[in-house]
Amino acid sequence: MLYEKPDALKPPRTDILMMTPWFAPIVWNGTYNIDVLTAQFQQRDLRIGLTVFAIKKYTVFVQTFIETAEKYFMVGHKVTYYVFTDRVSDIPIMELAEGRRLMVLRAPTYQRWQEVSMRRMEILRDYSRQRFTDEVDYLVCVDVDMRFNDEVGVEILSDRFGTLHPGMYGVPRKIYTYERNPQSEAFIPLDEGDFYYAGGYFGGNVEEVYKLTSFCHNAMMADKAKNIEAIWHDESYLNKYFLYHKPTKILSPEYLWDDSFGIPKFLKRRRFVTVPKKHNEIRN
Ligand code: UDP
Ligand code: MN
Repeated sequence: MLYEKPDALKPPRTDILMMTPWFAPIVWNGTYNIDVLTAQFQQRDLRIGLTVFAIKKYTVFVQTFIETAEKYFMVGHKVTYYVFTDRVSDIPIMELAEGRRLMVLRAPTYQRWQEVSMRRMEILRDYSRQRFTDEVDYLVCVDVDMRFNDEVGVEILSDRFGTLHPGMYGVPRKIYTYERNPQSEAFIPLDEGDFYYAGGYFGGNVEEVYKLTSFCHNAMMADKAKNIEAIWHDESYLNKYFLYHKPTKILSPEYLWDDSFGIPKFLKRRRFVTVPKKHNEIRN
């Protein structure tokens, strides 16, 4: 394989942060060579699980999600889609490329959308222990109200990864919408915190996803017993986890963008973008 050698004195980009102080890469377009990465991953013959929840009316998002994933997500790799739903018959039958399969899994429903969102942690924890561990090497856990819009490949994979929230890169620490109630298990004081991570995109190897989801679910249950729910639900607990169990890789907002934020200059690609929704109609 022929490619230009990296130059120790010439960073490929100077307009963004490419590395955290704990030496986790932040994945931006132009900072990696996908051919080199893919060759390395192919030597390991890896299997990737992509999990989404489509509970109640959110089944409407599944078709676009899978169709666009077929076009852009881990093309050429072994992919299992895990779609958790309470409306199994709403999930369309779709033709998938070779090496890819779709598993529709029954999941419980809850009345409040916050509860639906938070309970994802419990279900992912249970499946990580019972099933994912036999079927895949890496898990990518995302929101379903999304569509892939550009390539997402093995550059995202790492033992434990999170994603920069598109509404909160580069803002001062005190602006981060962490949980600020000291009684909550998700509490982060004003003078702590690295990044604000999005609840709708995290992953890693199965063992690490087990530990992460297990922590978040237990913390939510402990809060529930005290009648507390963190400000941004599962996202708040995820941010707490990542503060003390730092991600080994971080995805830039290219991997989770919302077009309502416009298109800033540093954003060379919008790989995975939100599908606009009418919150009141779809959540109730
Ligand atoms: N969700 C669902 N059904 C619901 C509410 C939420 O399936 O009634 C799932 C779905 O996967 C969704 C995720 O929980 O993407 C997070 O909720 P939402 O996308 O509404 O949160 P937002 O991204 O708007 O903060
Ligand atoms: Mn969402």
